Amino acid sequence: MRRIHEPARELAVAGEFDVVVVGGGPAGITAAIASARNEAKTLLIEKLGFLGGTATASLMNNINGFRNQVKPDATQTVKGIAQEIILALKETGGLGKSPYKQEEHATVKDDLSYSYCIDPEKFKFVVLEMAMESGVEVLFHTYFSAPVMAGNAIEGVIVENKSGRSAILGKIVVDATGDGDVAARAGAPFWEAKHEDKKLVDGLMYKISGLKDAPFESCRYGDSSVVWGPAMVWGHNDAWEISHSEVATRLEVYDHFKSLLGANPALAAAGAYVGETPAMLGIRQTRFIEGVYKLTADDAITGRRFDDAVAISSAPIIHYYGYRRFLEHEGYFIPYRCLVPKKVENLLVSGRCISSEQQPYESHRSMAPIMAIGQAAGTAAALCARDGVAPRDLDVKLLRETMEAQGQVVELPR
Ligand SMILES: Cc1cc2nc3c(=O)[nH]c(=O)nc-3n(C[C@H](O)[C@H](O)[C@H](O)COP(=O)(O)OP(=O)(O)OC[C@H]3O[C@@H](n4cnc5c(N)ncnc54)[C@H](O)[C@@H]3O)c2cc1C
Repeated sequence: MRRIHEPARELAVAGEFDVVVVGGGPAGITAAIASARNEAKTLLIEKLGFLGGTATASLMNNINGFRNQVKPDATQTVKGIAQEIILALKETGGLGKSPYKQEEHATVKDDLSYSYCIDPEKFKFVVLEMAMESGVEVLFHTYFSAPVMAGNAIEGVIVENKSGRSAILGKIVVDATGDGDVAARAGAPFWEAKHEDKKLVDGLMYKISGLKDAPFESCRYGDSSVVWGPAMVWGHNDAWEISHSEVATRLEVYDHFKSLLGANPALAAAGAYVGETPAMLGIRQTRFIEGVYKLTADDAITGRRFDDAVAISSAPIIHYYGYRRFLEHEGYFIPYRCLVPKKVENLLVSGRCISSEQQPYESHRSMAPIMAIGQAAGTAAALCARDGVAPRDLDVKLLRETMEAQGQVVELPR
């Protein structure tokens, strides 16, 4: 391959923070809010011009996993900031109808159903408002490029945006890019599932509008509904592959819609049309960052207890044991150590790329547990920054007590 030399240059330091969160998806939003509420000076960096990640930019509008989908479903296993978001959406008329089979709960504090369909525009508004009220500084249209390293410790990030290239320093950095971009470039080991590992497939969601009263069982809000559109055509291993794949997948949307109209004459009669295609393809899984502990399938299926549990997932494992392996207990525990990467100091990982085997990932990738994981990462980051301790040395008892005092569930009755 032909190569060119990029000259070294000095960069301006555009800001110094206690905690820098990279990625404004469900995990990054809750990490940043938790960090700021715990009095850390917090920056949230996002490559797009709005928050929500897959929930908004990929139109994945079903937030699942506040409790087990089937019995035993007596316990709400995710509360905290994720619950606040659902209640704020309810308040602003931002909840629709989830297509998932579930027992309907009251949607009041401590009594949420398994799944909620969200209006993505209301979601963008509600989470941005919550971030502002918590004191988070947001930097939109900014792409993480490289870590700033001192030996094996991360000291900040180098970003690119309209102002050019600059450095932003943070005592603790939280990688909430979903893909583990920060951790991987900082030198943390990672693994990726192969197609033969039954990796979850990617796809392009899209919105159908103009439904009026047409019956249509999908994620529904107002006269619109989001549907699972064409599956992603190729892979996503490098930027060229993603782009080629995106071109091919986007070109299939109207054929997909035509088949849908053929199968649902009521949609055609109502005058339904493609209301929106998303900013981003829906990419389900890429890297898993190796942490101090890797969550196993056995941990999830048996509901193994951990002294450092910081989040609980009760969502089904999507397809590993046939379609939807429902848990036979209230939920399994996610240890803090899954958020602490090997080899890199002052870094925490949040969201879908935490240290996990494929099977538990297929449960806790649901956005309710993902937001609980985000809250754990942000709270931990703030405590580390405040007390000057490395994430791997954090007092997990203090972390769990702080999270419980702030309304999150980290333990279940025995
Ligand atoms: C097709 C599909 C269907 C799904 N179905 C459901 C479902 O029904 N229910 C459910 O609960 N969950 C579902 N999920 C899973 C869920 O959406 C994800 O697991 C969840 O969104 C992961 O959250 P995250 O914050 O870790 O990552 P993401 O949502 O991927 O957010 C990452 C954020 O980081 C930003 N970012 C990435 N790289 C950079 C960078 N270099 N610089 C700056 N910013 C960056 C992105 O723009 C994005 O905002 C589905 C996912 C897909 C793709």
